[in-house]
Amino acid sequence: MRRISHWIDGKPWSGDTDRFGEVFDPATGQVAAHVDFAGATEIEAAVSAARTASVEWRDASLAARTSVLFGFRELLNARKRELVDLVTAEHGKVTDDAAGEVQRAMEAVEFACGVPTLLKGGYSENVSTRVDVYSLRQPLGVVGVISPFNFPAMVPLWFVPNALACGNTVVLKPSEKDPSAANFIAELFAEAGLPDGALNVLHGDKVAVDGLLEHRDVRAISFVGSTPIARYVYETGTRHGKRVQALGGAKNHMVVLPDSDLDLAADAAVSAGFGSAGERCMAVSVVVAVDPVGDELVSRIRDRIAKLKVGDGRRPGCEMGPLVTAAHRDKVTSYVDKGTGEGAELVVDGREHEIDGEPEGFWLGPTLFDHVEPGMALYRDEIFGPVLSVVRVATYEDAVEMVNANPYGNGTAIFTNDGGAARRFQHEVEIGMVGVNVPIPVPVGYYSFGGWKDSLFGDTHAYGPDGIHFFTRTKVVTSRWLDPSHGGVNLGFPRNV
Ligand code: NAD
Repeated sequence: MRRISHWIDGKPWSGDTDRFGEVFDPATGQVAAHVDFAGATEIEAAVSAARTASVEWRDASLAARTSVLFGFRELLNARKRELVDLVTAEHGKVTDDAAGEVQRAMEAVEFACGVPTLLKGGYSENVSTRVDVYSLRQPLGVVGVISPFNFPAMVPLWFVPNALACGNTVVLKPSEKDPSAANFIAELFAEAGLPDGALNVLHGDKVAVDGLLEHRDVRAISFVGSTPIARYVYETGTRHGKRVQALGGAKNHMVVLPDSDLDLAADAAVSAGFGSAGERCMAVSVVVAVDPVGDELVSRIRDRIAKLKVGDGRRPGCEMGPLVTAAHRDKVTSYVDKGTGEGAELVVDGREHEIDGEPEGFWLGPTLFDHVEPGMALYRDEIFGPVLSVVRVATYEDAVEMVNANPYGNGTAIFTNDGGAARRFQHEVEIGMVGVNVPIPVPVGYYSFGGWKDSLFGDTHAYGPDGIHFFTRTKVVTSRWLDPSHGGVNLGFPRNV
Protein backbone atom coordinates (compact mmCIF):
# COMPACT_ATOMS: atom_id res chain seq x y z
CA MET A 1 0.00 0.00 0.00
CA ARG A 2 1.35 3.47 -0.91
CA ARG A 3 2.18 5.48 2.18
CA ILE A 4 1.80 9.27 2.36
CA SER A 5 3.86 10.75 5.16
CA HIS A 6 4.72 14.14 6.60
CA TRP A 7 7.15 16.60 5.01
CA ILE A 8 9.33 17.98 7.77
CA ASP A 9 12.50 20.06 7.57
CA GLY A 10 12.73 19.83 3.78
CA LYS A 11 12.29 16.06 3.41
CA PRO A 12 9.79 13.24 3.75
CA TRP A 13 9.37 11.95 7.31
CA SER A 14 10.79 8.48 7.70
CA GLY A 15 9.76 7.70 11.27
CA ASP A 16 7.39 4.89 12.17
CA THR A 17 3.72 5.52 12.79
CA ASP A 18 1.07 3.65 14.71
CA ARG A 19 -1.86 5.74 13.47
CA PHE A 20 -2.90 6.28 9.87
CA GLY A 21 -5.97 6.97 7.72
CA GLU A 22 -7.20 5.54 4.44
CA VAL A 23 -7.16 7.67 1.30
CA PHE A 24 -9.71 6.58 -1.30
CA ASP A 25 -10.08 6.94 -5.02
CA PRO A 26 -13.69 8.15 -4.81
CA ALA A 27 -14.48 7.17 -8.40
CA THR A 28 -13.63 3.50 -7.80
CA GLY A 29 -14.27 3.26 -4.07
CA GLN A 30 -10.85 1.59 -3.61
CA VAL A 31 -8.29 2.49 -0.94
CA ALA A 32 -5.45 4.15 -2.86
CA ALA A 33 -3.01 4.96 -0.02
CA HIS A 34 -2.49 5.20 3.70
CA VAL A 35 -1.73 8.58 5.24
CA ASP A 36 0.26 8.88 8.47
CA PHE A 37 -1.47 10.61 11.38
CA ALA A 38 0.83 12.82 13.45
CA GLY A 39 1.30 12.33 17.17
CA ALA A 40 3.27 14.37 19.70
CA THR A 41 6.68 13.46 18.18
CA GLU A 42 5.82 14.56 14.65
CA ILE A 43 4.03 17.73 15.83
CA GLU A 44 7.09 18.74 17.83
CA ALA A 45 9.42 17.92 14.92
CA ALA A 46 7.40 20.04 12.48
CA VAL A 47 7.02 23.05 14.77
CA SER A 48 10.64 22.87 15.84
CA ALA A 49 11.83 22.75 12.19
CA ALA A 50 9.66 25.78 11.43
CA ARG A 51 10.95 27.65 14.47
CA THR A 52 14.58 27.01 13.52
CA ALA A 53 13.99 28.01 9.89
CA SER A 54 12.25 31.17 11.03
CA VAL A 55 15.52 32.69 12.28
CA GLU A 56 16.98 32.74 8.77
CA TRP A 57 13.81 33.21 6.74
CA ARG A 58 12.50 36.25 8.59
CA ASP A 59 15.76 38.04 7.76
CA ALA A 60 15.92 36.89 4.13
CA SER A 61 15.74 39.95 1.88
CA LEU A 62 12.56 40.72 0.03
CA ALA A 63 14.49 40.00 -3.15
CA ALA A 64 15.40 36.53 -1.87
CA ARG A 65 11.84 35.77 -0.75
CA THR A 66 10.26 36.92 -3.99
CA SER A 67 12.79 34.95 -5.98
CA VAL A 68 11.52 31.77 -4.25
CA LEU A 69 7.91 32.77 -4.88
CA PHE A 70 8.48 33.51 -8.55
CA GLY A 71 10.37 30.20 -8.84
CA PHE A 72 7.46 28.36 -7.23
CA ARG A 73 5.02 30.06 -9.58
CA GLU A 74 7.03 28.94 -12.62
CA LEU A 75 7.29 25.35 -11.34
CA LEU A 76 3.60 25.23 -10.50
CA ASN A 77 2.71 26.50 -13.94
CA ALA A 78 4.99 23.97 -15.62
CA ARG A 79 3.72 21.02 -13.55
CA LYS A 80 0.10 21.99 -12.92
CA ARG A 81 -1.23 18.97 -14.77
CA GLU A 82 0.35 16.68 -12.14
CA LEU A 83 -1.35 18.62 -9.37
CA VAL A 84 -4.67 18.55 -11.25
CA ASP A 85 -4.42 14.76 -11.55
CA LEU A 86 -3.63 14.37 -7.84
CA VAL A 87 -6.70 16.44 -6.96
CA THR A 88 -8.97 14.40 -9.22
CA ALA A 89 -7.56 11.09 -7.96
CA GLU A 90 -8.14 11.82 -4.27
CA HIS A 91 -10.99 14.36 -4.23
CA GLY A 92 -12.92 13.06 -7.24
CA LYS A 93 -13.73 16.40 -8.93
CA VAL A 94 -13.51 16.23 -12.71
CA THR A 95 -10.25 17.19 -14.44
CA ASP A 96 -11.53 20.49 -15.82
CA ASP A 97 -12.80 21.56 -12.40
CA ALA A 98 -9.49 20.59 -10.76
CA ALA A 99 -7.71 22.68 -13.40
CA GLY A 100 -9.93 25.63 -12.41
CA GLU A 101 -8.95 25.13 -8.77
CA VAL A 102 -5.24 25.21 -9.63
CA GLN A 103 -5.74 28.26 -11.84
CA ARG A 104 -7.41 30.16 -8.98
CA ALA A 105 -4.64 29.03 -6.62
CA MET A 106 -2.14 30.55 -9.01
CA GLU A 107 -3.76 33.97 -8.48
CA ALA A 108 -2.89 33.83 -4.78
CA VAL A 109 0.71 32.87 -5.60
CA GLU A 110 1.03 35.72 -8.08
CA PHE A 111 -0.37 38.17 -5.53
CA ALA A 112 2.27 37.08 -3.00
CA CYS A 113 5.00 37.67 -5.62
CA GLY A 114 4.19 41.39 -5.20
CA VAL A 115 5.06 41.34 -1.51
CA PRO A 116 7.74 44.06 -1.66
CA THR A 117 5.02 46.55 -2.55
CA LEU A 118 2.53 45.06 -0.11
CA LEU A 119 4.90 45.32 2.86
CA LYS A 120 5.69 48.99 2.32
CA GLY A 121 5.19 50.96 5.48
CA GLY A 122 4.44 54.63 6.01
CA TYR A 123 6.88 57.43 6.78
CA SER A 124 6.11 60.84 8.22
CA GLU A 125 8.95 63.28 8.32
CA ASN A 126 9.23 65.93 11.01
CA VAL A 127 6.13 65.02 13.06
CA SER A 128 7.82 67.09 15.72
CA THR A 129 10.92 69.15 15.18
CA ARG A 130 13.45 66.72 13.61
CA VAL A 131 11.40 63.74 14.76
CA ASP A 132 10.31 61.18 12.16
CA VAL A 133 7.76 58.37 12.49
CA TYR A 134 7.58 55.26 10.34
CA SER A 135 5.76 51.96 10.38
CA LEU A 136 7.02 48.47 9.57
CA ARG A 137 5.28 45.18 8.96
CA GLN A 138 7.09 42.23 10.50
CA PRO A 139 6.39 38.47 10.42
CA LEU A 140 4.69 36.66 13.29
CA GLY A 141 7.00 33.63 13.39
CA VAL A 142 5.62 30.08 12.99
CA VAL A 143 2.06 29.94 11.66
CA GLY A 144 -0.29 26.97 11.23
CA VAL A 145 -2.55 26.43 8.21
CA ILE A 146 -5.35 23.86 8.53
CA SER A 147 -7.28 23.09 5.35
CA PRO A 148 -10.43 21.19 4.28
CA PHE A 149 -10.84 18.36 1.76
CA ASN A 150 -12.75 20.26 -0.89
CA PHE A 151 -9.93 22.41 -2.27
CA PRO A 152 -6.75 20.42 -1.49
CA ALA A 153 -4.56 22.66 -3.66
CA MET A 154 -6.26 26.05 -3.64
CA VAL A 155 -6.99 26.54 0.06
CA PRO A 156 -3.40 25.75 1.22
CA LEU A 157 -2.24 28.19 -1.47
CA TRP A 158 -4.61 30.88 -0.22
CA PHE A 159 -2.37 31.09 2.85
CA VAL A 160 1.07 29.53 2.38
CA PRO A 161 2.47 31.98 -0.24
CA ASN A 162 1.38 35.09 1.70
CA ALA A 163 2.60 33.66 5.00
CA LEU A 164 6.04 32.84 3.53
CA ALA A 165 6.22 36.11 1.58
CA CYS A 166 5.74 38.01 4.83
CA GLY A 167 8.67 36.15 6.39
CA ASN A 168 6.82 33.54 8.46
CA THR A 169 7.45 29.82 8.45
CA VAL A 170 4.55 27.40 8.13
CA VAL A 171 3.18 24.10 9.37
CA LEU A 172 0.42 23.03 6.98
CA LYS A 173 -2.12 20.43 8.20
CA PRO A 174 -4.13 19.43 5.11
CA SER A 175 -7.27 17.33 5.07
CA GLU A 176 -6.56 13.67 5.72
CA LYS A 177 -9.01 12.77 2.93
CA ASP A 178 -6.87 14.12 0.06
CA PRO A 179 -3.40 14.77 1.48
CA SER A 180 -1.11 14.39 -1.58
CA ALA A 181 -1.55 17.88 -3.03
CA ALA A 182 0.05 19.42 0.08
CA ASN A 183 3.18 17.27 -0.27
CA PHE A 184 3.40 18.17 -3.96
CA ILE A 185 3.24 21.88 -3.07
CA ALA A 186 5.94 21.48 -0.40
CA GLU A 187 8.22 19.65 -2.83
CA LEU A 188 7.82 22.40 -5.45
CA PHE A 189 8.63 25.07 -2.86
CA ALA A 190 11.78 23.14 -1.90
CA GLU A 191 12.77 22.94 -5.58
CA ALA A 192 12.16 26.69 -5.86
CA GLY A 193 14.80 27.27 -3.17
CA LEU A 194 12.75 27.62 0.00
CA PRO A 195 15.03 26.79 2.96
CA ASP A 196 14.44 23.49 4.76
CA GLY A 197 11.89 23.80 7.55
CA ALA A 198 10.22 26.97 6.22
CA LEU A 199 7.24 24.92 5.01
CA ASN A 200 6.31 21.66 6.74
CA VAL A 201 3.35 19.39 6.06
CA LEU A 202 1.88 17.58 9.02
CA HIS A 203 -0.77 15.00 8.20
CA GLY A 204 -3.41 13.84 10.58
CA ASP A 205 -6.64 14.41 12.42
CA LYS A 206 -7.80 16.25 15.56
CA VAL A 207 -4.58 15.28 17.36
CA ALA A 208 -2.48 17.25 14.87
CA VAL A 209 -4.91 20.20 14.90
CA ASP A 210 -4.97 20.35 18.69
CA GLY A 211 -1.19 20.05 18.76
CA LEU A 212 -0.90 23.20 16.64
CA LEU A 213 -3.63 25.07 18.53
CA GLU A 214 -1.91 24.46 21.85
CA HIS A 215 1.75 24.77 20.87
CA ARG A 216 3.34 27.86 22.39
CA ASP A 217 5.62 28.41 19.38
CA VAL A 218 2.74 28.63 16.90
CA ARG A 219 1.73 32.29 16.71
CA ALA A 220 -1.24 32.20 14.35
CA ILE A 221 -3.71 29.80 12.77
CA SER A 222 -5.48 30.08 9.42
CA PHE A 223 -8.27 27.50 9.32
CA VAL A 224 -10.84 26.57 6.68
CA GLY A 225 -13.48 23.91 7.25
CA SER A 226 -16.96 23.32 8.64
CA THR A 227 -18.57 25.79 11.04
CA PRO A 228 -18.50 23.64 14.21
CA ILE A 229 -14.77 22.95 13.79
CA ALA A 230 -14.06 26.56 12.76
CA ARG A 231 -15.73 27.77 15.95
CA TYR A 232 -13.75 25.25 18.02
CA VAL A 233 -10.48 26.22 16.33
CA TYR A 234 -11.15 29.93 16.87
CA GLU A 235 -12.07 29.51 20.53
CA THR A 236 -9.22 27.11 21.33
CA GLY A 237 -6.58 29.01 19.37
CA THR A 238 -7.43 32.41 20.81
CA ARG A 239 -7.58 30.91 24.32
CA HIS A 240 -3.97 29.87 23.73
CA GLY A 241 -3.05 33.42 22.80
CA LYS A 242 -2.92 33.00 19.03
CA ARG A 243 -4.17 35.17 16.21
CA VAL A 244 -6.84 33.07 14.46
CA GLN A 245 -8.89 33.37 11.29
CA ALA A 246 -11.30 30.44 10.95
CA LEU A 247 -13.46 30.21 7.84
CA GLY A 248 -16.51 27.99 8.22
CA GLY A 249 -19.38 26.47 6.28
CA ALA A 250 -22.08 27.99 4.13
CA LYS A 251 -25.61 27.89 2.81
CA ASN A 252 -25.52 30.11 -0.25
CA HIS A 253 -28.74 31.55 -1.67
CA MET A 254 -29.25 32.59 -5.25
CA VAL A 255 -32.14 35.04 -5.57
CA VAL A 256 -33.92 35.06 -8.94
CA LEU A 257 -36.09 38.11 -9.61
CA PRO A 258 -38.99 37.96 -12.07
CA ASP A 259 -37.25 40.22 -14.61
CA SER A 260 -34.14 38.05 -14.87
CA ASP A 261 -33.10 36.06 -17.92
CA LEU A 262 -34.38 32.64 -16.84
CA ASP A 263 -32.08 30.66 -19.13
CA LEU A 264 -29.07 32.46 -17.67
CA ALA A 265 -30.41 31.88 -14.15
CA ALA A 266 -31.06 28.17 -14.78
CA ASP A 267 -27.57 27.70 -16.27
CA ALA A 268 -26.07 29.43 -13.24
CA ALA A 269 -28.09 27.44 -10.69
CA VAL A 270 -27.08 24.12 -12.26
CA SER A 271 -23.40 25.11 -12.65
CA ALA A 272 -23.07 26.49 -9.14
CA GLY A 273 -25.27 23.85 -7.52
CA PHE A 274 -23.66 20.74 -9.00
CA GLY A 275 -20.10 21.77 -9.93
CA SER A 276 -17.66 19.76 -7.83
CA ALA A 277 -20.71 17.68 -6.76
CA GLY A 278 -21.84 20.60 -4.59
CA GLU A 279 -18.72 20.24 -2.43
CA ARG A 280 -17.82 23.92 -2.59
CA CYS A 281 -18.21 26.45 0.19
CA MET A 282 -19.46 28.84 -2.51
CA ALA A 283 -21.85 26.33 -4.09
CA VAL A 284 -25.40 27.54 -4.53
CA SER A 285 -27.54 25.27 -2.36
CA VAL A 286 -30.76 27.34 -2.23
CA VAL A 287 -32.47 29.00 -5.17
CA VAL A 288 -34.91 31.66 -3.97
CA ALA A 289 -37.49 32.06 -6.73
CA VAL A 290 -39.45 35.30 -6.44
CA ASP A 291 -43.05 34.95 -7.71
CA PRO A 292 -44.03 34.20 -10.37
CA VAL A 293 -40.84 32.58 -11.78
CA GLY A 294 -40.89 29.35 -9.70
CA ASP A 295 -42.56 26.91 -12.12
CA GLU A 296 -40.67 28.06 -15.19
CA LEU A 297 -37.32 28.16 -13.40
CA VAL A 298 -37.72 24.68 -11.89
CA SER A 299 -38.66 23.30 -15.29
CA ARG A 300 -35.55 24.80 -16.92
CA ILE A 301 -33.27 23.54 -14.13
CA ARG A 302 -34.77 20.05 -14.46
CA ASP A 303 -34.10 20.00 -18.22
CA ARG A 304 -30.48 20.90 -17.69
CA ILE A 305 -29.92 18.32 -14.95
CA ALA A 306 -31.15 15.56 -17.27
CA LYS A 307 -28.26 16.33 -19.66
CA LEU A 308 -25.48 16.34 -17.02
CA LYS A 309 -22.88 13.61 -17.43
CA VAL A 310 -21.87 12.19 -14.03
CA GLY A 311 -18.92 9.84 -13.71
CA ASP A 312 -15.20 9.29 -13.19
CA GLY A 313 -13.58 12.72 -13.44
CA ARG A 314 -10.78 11.30 -15.59
CA ARG A 315 -13.19 10.16 -18.32
CA PRO A 316 -13.79 12.59 -21.17
CA GLY A 317 -17.02 14.53 -21.03
CA CYS A 318 -17.81 13.90 -17.35
CA GLU A 319 -19.08 17.10 -15.75
CA MET A 320 -19.65 15.95 -12.18
CA GLY A 321 -17.67 13.41 -10.18
CA PRO A 322 -18.33 11.33 -7.06
CA LEU A 323 -18.52 12.51 -3.46
CA VAL A 324 -15.33 12.36 -1.44
CA THR A 325 -16.06 9.32 0.77
CA ALA A 326 -18.75 6.69 1.17
CA ALA A 327 -19.65 8.12 4.59
CA HIS A 328 -20.14 11.59 3.12
CA ARG A 329 -22.18 10.20 0.20
CA ASP A 330 -24.42 8.34 2.67
CA LYS A 331 -24.88 11.48 4.77
CA VAL A 332 -25.82 13.55 1.72
CA THR A 333 -28.18 10.81 0.49
CA SER A 334 -29.91 10.78 3.87
CA TYR A 335 -31.12 14.33 3.10
CA VAL A 336 -32.96 13.02 0.04
CA ASP A 337 -34.98 10.75 2.36
CA LYS A 338 -35.41 13.52 4.94
CA GLY A 339 -36.58 16.02 2.32
CA THR A 340 -39.38 13.83 1.05
CA GLY A 341 -40.39 13.02 4.64
CA GLU A 342 -40.57 16.72 5.47
CA GLY A 343 -42.91 17.43 2.56
CA ALA A 344 -40.60 18.99 -0.01
CA GLU A 345 -41.23 17.96 -3.61
CA LEU A 346 -38.49 15.73 -5.05
CA VAL A 347 -38.28 16.93 -8.67
CA VAL A 348 -35.10 15.06 -9.68
CA ASP A 349 -33.86 12.04 -7.69
CA GLY A 350 -30.06 11.84 -8.02
CA ARG A 351 -30.04 8.23 -6.85
CA GLU A 352 -31.40 7.30 -10.28
CA HIS A 353 -28.94 9.25 -12.43
CA GLU A 354 -26.89 7.22 -14.92
CA ILE A 355 -23.22 7.00 -13.91
CA ASP A 356 -20.18 6.68 -16.19
CA GLY A 357 -17.92 4.99 -13.64
CA GLU A 358 -17.24 1.99 -11.44
CA PRO A 359 -20.27 0.90 -9.43
CA GLU A 360 -18.31 0.99 -6.14
CA GLY A 361 -17.57 4.72 -6.55
CA PHE A 362 -19.16 7.15 -4.10
CA TRP A 363 -21.94 8.32 -6.41
CA LEU A 364 -24.98 10.47 -6.01
CA GLY A 365 -26.41 12.25 -9.05
CA PRO A 366 -27.77 15.80 -9.09
CA THR A 367 -30.91 16.10 -6.98
CA LEU A 368 -33.53 18.87 -7.08
CA PHE A 369 -36.15 19.70 -4.46
CA ASP A 370 -38.93 22.25 -4.93
CA HIS A 371 -41.20 23.90 -2.34
CA VAL A 372 -38.54 23.68 0.37
CA GLU A 373 -39.38 25.63 3.55
CA PRO A 374 -36.97 27.28 6.02
CA GLY A 375 -37.98 24.90 8.84
CA MET A 376 -36.79 21.79 6.95
CA ALA A 377 -33.41 20.09 7.51
CA LEU A 378 -32.89 20.39 3.75
CA TYR A 379 -32.87 24.17 4.16
CA ARG A 380 -31.28 24.43 7.59
CA ASP A 381 -28.19 22.23 7.25
CA GLU A 382 -25.13 22.60 5.09
CA ILE A 383 -25.51 19.40 3.04
CA PHE A 384 -22.32 19.86 0.98
CA GLY A 385 -23.42 17.66 -1.88
CA PRO A 386 -25.37 17.73 -5.15
CA VAL A 387 -28.73 18.59 -3.59
CA LEU A 388 -30.31 21.85 -4.73
CA SER A 389 -33.35 23.30 -2.96
CA VAL A 390 -35.82 25.75 -4.48
CA VAL A 391 -37.67 28.02 -2.05
CA ARG A 392 -40.49 30.22 -3.31
CA VAL A 393 -41.17 33.71 -1.96
CA ALA A 394 -43.66 36.42 -2.89
CA THR A 395 -41.43 39.51 -3.00
CA TYR A 396 -37.88 40.83 -3.18
CA GLU A 397 -38.20 41.89 0.48
CA ASP A 398 -39.11 38.33 1.51
CA ALA A 399 -36.04 37.03 -0.33
CA VAL A 400 -33.65 39.43 1.41
CA GLU A 401 -35.23 38.74 4.78
CA MET A 402 -34.66 35.02 4.27
CA VAL A 403 -31.02 35.42 3.24
CA ASN A 404 -30.31 37.74 6.16
CA ALA A 405 -32.02 35.48 8.70
CA ASN A 406 -29.80 32.54 7.72
CA PRO A 407 -26.97 31.99 10.21
CA TYR A 408 -24.42 31.48 7.44
CA GLY A 409 -23.06 34.45 5.51
CA ASN A 410 -20.51 33.23 2.99
CA GLY A 411 -21.80 33.98 -0.51
CA THR A 412 -25.00 34.98 -2.29
CA ALA A 413 -26.08 36.05 -5.76
CA ILE A 414 -28.92 37.98 -7.31
CA PHE A 415 -30.14 37.39 -10.85
CA THR A 416 -31.93 40.37 -12.36
CA ASN A 417 -31.78 42.86 -15.21
CA ASP A 418 -32.73 45.70 -12.89
CA GLY A 419 -29.61 47.63 -11.86
CA GLY A 420 -31.49 49.42 -9.09
CA ALA A 421 -32.63 46.15 -7.54
CA ALA A 422 -29.13 44.70 -7.76
CA ARG A 423 -27.65 47.78 -6.13
CA ARG A 424 -30.21 47.66 -3.34
CA PHE A 425 -29.46 43.96 -2.79
CA GLN A 426 -25.69 44.42 -2.54
CA HIS A 427 -26.30 47.16 0.01
CA GLU A 428 -28.88 45.35 2.14
CA VAL A 429 -27.69 41.76 2.15
CA GLU A 430 -25.73 40.55 5.20
CA ILE A 431 -23.29 38.29 3.37
CA GLY A 432 -19.53 38.61 2.82
CA MET A 433 -19.37 37.92 -0.92
CA VAL A 434 -22.08 38.98 -3.34
CA GLY A 435 -22.60 38.16 -7.02
CA VAL A 436 -24.72 40.18 -9.42
CA ASN A 437 -25.62 37.73 -12.20
CA VAL A 438 -22.50 35.82 -11.06
CA PRO A 439 -23.36 32.65 -9.13
CA ILE A 440 -19.97 31.89 -7.52
CA PRO A 441 -18.53 35.28 -6.58
CA VAL A 442 -15.11 34.11 -5.33
CA PRO A 443 -13.03 37.31 -5.24
CA VAL A 444 -9.90 37.50 -7.40
CA GLY A 445 -6.55 37.07 -5.66
CA TYR A 446 -5.97 40.79 -5.07
CA TYR A 447 -9.21 41.18 -3.10
CA SER A 448 -9.83 39.02 -0.04
CA PHE A 449 -12.14 36.06 0.57
CA GLY A 450 -14.40 35.72 3.57
CA GLY A 451 -17.93 35.32 4.79
CA TRP A 452 -19.89 36.94 7.59
CA LYS A 453 -21.81 35.50 10.55
CA ASP A 454 -21.20 31.76 11.14
CA SER A 455 -19.10 31.51 8.00
CA LEU A 456 -16.06 33.22 9.52
CA PHE A 457 -14.66 33.56 13.02
CA GLY A 458 -12.02 36.26 13.43
CA ASP A 459 -11.45 39.69 11.98
CA THR A 460 -9.56 39.21 8.76
CA HIS A 461 -10.52 37.51 5.53
CA ALA A 462 -8.29 35.13 3.58
CA TYR A 463 -5.63 36.01 0.96
CA GLY A 464 -5.24 39.36 -0.80
CA PRO A 465 -4.60 42.46 1.34
CA ASP A 466 -6.24 40.89 4.41
CA GLY A 467 -3.79 37.98 4.13
CA ILE A 468 -0.81 40.33 4.34
CA HIS A 469 -2.42 42.05 7.30
CA PHE A 470 -3.07 38.72 9.06
CA PHE A 471 0.46 37.38 8.62
CA THR A 472 2.26 40.49 9.85
CA ARG A 473 2.29 42.70 12.91
CA THR A 474 2.86 46.39 12.71
CA LYS A 475 5.60 48.25 14.49
CA VAL A 476 5.74 52.05 14.63
CA VAL A 477 9.09 53.71 15.18
CA THR A 478 9.47 57.29 16.46
CA SER A 479 12.99 58.44 15.75
CA ARG A 480 15.10 61.48 16.55
CA TRP A 481 18.73 61.84 15.69
CA LEU A 482 20.08 64.08 18.35
CA ASP A 483 21.93 67.23 17.61
CA PRO A 484 23.41 69.69 20.08
CA SER A 485 20.35 71.95 19.95
CA HIS A 486 18.32 69.34 21.85
CA GLY A 487 18.84 68.69 25.48
CA GLY A 488 17.47 69.18 28.92
CA VAL A 489 15.17 67.14 31.12
CA ASN A 490 11.39 67.43 30.54
CA LEU A 491 9.00 65.18 32.50
CA GLY A 492 5.88 66.30 30.60
CA PHE A 493 4.09 63.98 28.11
CA PRO A 494 5.86 64.30 24.74
CA ARG A 495 4.23 67.05 22.67
CA ASN A 496 4.74 67.54 18.98
CA VAL A 497 6.06 71.01 18.45
P1 NAD B 1 -13.86 19.75 8.40
O1 NAD B 1 -14.27 20.82 9.32
O2 NAD B 1 -14.36 18.36 8.66
O3 NAD B 1 -12.25 19.61 8.37
C1 NAD B 1 -11.43 20.73 8.16
C2 NAD B 1 -10.08 20.48 8.83
O4 NAD B 1 -10.29 20.32 10.23
C3 NAD B 1 -9.40 19.21 8.34
O5 NAD B 1 -8.02 19.46 8.20
C4 NAD B 1 -9.70 18.20 9.43
O6 NAD B 1 -8.69 17.23 9.59
C5 NAD B 1 -9.80 19.05 10.68
N1 NAD B 1 -10.75 18.52 11.67
C6 NAD B 1 -11.85 17.76 11.42
N2 NAD B 1 -12.48 17.47 12.58
C7 NAD B 1 -11.78 18.06 13.58
C8 NAD B 1 -11.94 18.12 15.00
N3 NAD B 1 -12.95 17.51 15.62
N4 NAD B 1 -11.04 18.82 15.71
C9 NAD B 1 -10.01 19.44 15.10
N5 NAD B 1 -9.81 19.40 13.76
C10 NAD B 1 -10.68 18.73 13.00
O7 NAD B 1 -14.23 20.21 6.92
P2 NAD B 1 -14.16 19.37 5.58
O8 NAD B 1 -15.26 18.36 5.58
O9 NAD B 1 -12.77 18.92 5.32
O10 NAD B 1 -14.47 20.52 4.52
C11 NAD B 1 -15.77 20.92 4.16
C12 NAD B 1 -16.22 22.11 4.96
O11 NAD B 1 -15.34 23.20 4.78
C13 NAD B 1 -17.59 22.63 4.53
O12 NAD B 1 -18.31 22.97 5.68
C14 NAD B 1 -17.26 23.86 3.71
O13 NAD B 1 -18.28 24.82 3.63
C15 NAD B 1 -16.08 24.38 4.43
N6 NAD B 1 -15.28 25.24 3.59
C16 NAD B 1 -15.33 26.58 3.85
C17 NAD B 1 -14.61 27.44 3.05
C18 NAD B 1 -14.64 28.92 3.31
O14 NAD B 1 -13.84 29.61 2.74
N7 NAD B 1 -15.52 29.44 4.14
C19 NAD B 1 -13.84 26.96 1.99
C20 NAD B 1 -13.81 25.58 1.77
C21 NAD B 1 -14.53 24.73 2.58
